[in-house]
Amino acid sequence: MTYDEDVTEEGAVQLTDGPREACGVFAAYTPRQRVSSLIYFGLYGLQHRGQESAGIATSNGETVTVFKDLGLVSQVFDEPALAGLDGHLGIGHTRYSTTGSNNWANAQPAHRQVGATSIALGHNGNLTNTSELAERLGIKGATTDSDLMAEGIARAIDDERSDDRGLEMAILDVASTWEGAFSLVIMDQGRIVGLRDPHGFRPLCLGALPEGGWVLASETAALDLVGARFVREVAAGEMVVIDAGGVHSYQLTQTPAPGLCLFEFVYFARPDSQMYGRGIHAARRQMGEALAAEHPAEGDVVVPVPESGLPAAQGFAAASGIPYADGLVKNRYIGRTFIEPSQSLRDRGIRLKLNPIPDNLRGKRVVLVDDSIVRGSTTRKLVQMIRDAGANEVHLRVSSPPYRWPCFYGMDTSDRSTLIAARLEVDEIRDHVGADSLGYLSLEGLLEATGVADAGFCTACLSGNYPTDVAEAADKFQLERS
Ligand code: SF4
Repeated sequence: MTYDEDVTEEGAVQLTDGPREACGVFAAYTPRQRVSSLIYFGLYGLQHRGQESAGIATSNGETVTVFKDLGLVSQVFDEPALAGLDGHLGIGHTRYSTTGSNNWANAQPAHRQVGATSIALGHNGNLTNTSELAERLGIKGATTDSDLMAEGIARAIDDERSDDRGLEMAILDVASTWEGAFSLVIMDQGRIVGLRDPHGFRPLCLGALPEGGWVLASETAALDLVGARFVREVAAGEMVVIDAGGVHSYQLTQTPAPGLCLFEFVYFARPDSQMYGRGIHAARRQMGEALAAEHPAEGDVVVPVPESGLPAAQGFAAASGIPYADGLVKNRYIGRTFIEPSQSLRDRGIRLKLNPIPDNLRGKRVVLVDDSIVRGSTTRKLVQMIRDAGANEVHLRVSSPPYRWPCFYGMDTSDRSTLIAARLEVDEIRDHVGADSLGYLSLEGLLEATGVADAGFCTACLSGNYPTDVAEAADKFQLERS
């Protein structure tokens, strides 16, 4: 997937490709060990889920310390910063903003002090009833859904409780008021908590550390990075509390309806992660095989749009018998820069991300495989770039269906007018991007390729079927559809 908006409202150049996700979360509890470095490496494994800010909160049993800043994990933390984060338990967060702008105050973990209790919270997802919650809490002005959750919990904490379960009781008290997507890590001085909304839109898993202790992470790849063993996924609608007594589980609802974001399988998750027990790389490769069966192409070479189109292109090549070749090189050190580009550089923006290998394209009929097209303008530049490199034909194949409906659950596509497939039919998109042919994998084909279709997925951006009530704007689209 390639992304189209190189310059953000703040004037920064966003060189990451693909639509931005709402965040990565990580948490660790150990009986003895300092956890700041461990959380740092966990976040390192989740960097792809959010590149605007990073933060860690830790506790030594008495004091919660928070350190957060704008930037990549490696830019925010150095040895002195990690040394200042004392304690054997903590949480971490990498952020891309889907609610609230990108500034220091909105970086996470969010922190609150209630009497003697100190809490911190990291959120992946997007709530759909933010205004209602703000009104209920009497909060006016700019805020984030994550901040509202932290505030709601803080107000529900009974600091006078005779036991030490104030945090978990407060969460149980307020979680039913939250609508939309939330995979959370929360902590106080003595415990970490992980929870997922009743649909489990965003992933969260539990791992065990070899020397004792537990971790929670958005993806299994982050467990691998810190040497933790995958134990299980936190279930949709489940809250796990980890303290000196081990892992305790609570159900937020008796009627969970699992609906993991299907785009985790298509694009968001790392290929070396597993979800619903299925390896993401294998699923993406199978999507490519299914795509070759649904939309065969006459070509000389199959070329992926790196990196996310790679496994699907491998699958397409294997199933079609057309040789696979690298035709585009991705700048590996891509990230976010705050240098304002000149107009001429801006026009060349795509070259900062991807550059062609003319020797592999010249005189060829190229089957270009990408995992999705959201806005389309970069795809158009890409097709032109491949033609300029000498390709005779460009046949575009996409390993997911047309992205027609906005996401309100944590992907930054809430404005439908920016989605090319909301405005144009497939043959019009083909003409717009300048390809000789265009084929999208069907939703049925995509679900089957995951190998775990029955586990439950959100498909709203591809089908228009939203699993929850969403914003007024979405209701309008639903009417339009009926
Ligand atoms: Fe994922 Fe699309 Fe559902 Fe958003 S609408 S959670 S991107 S499947």
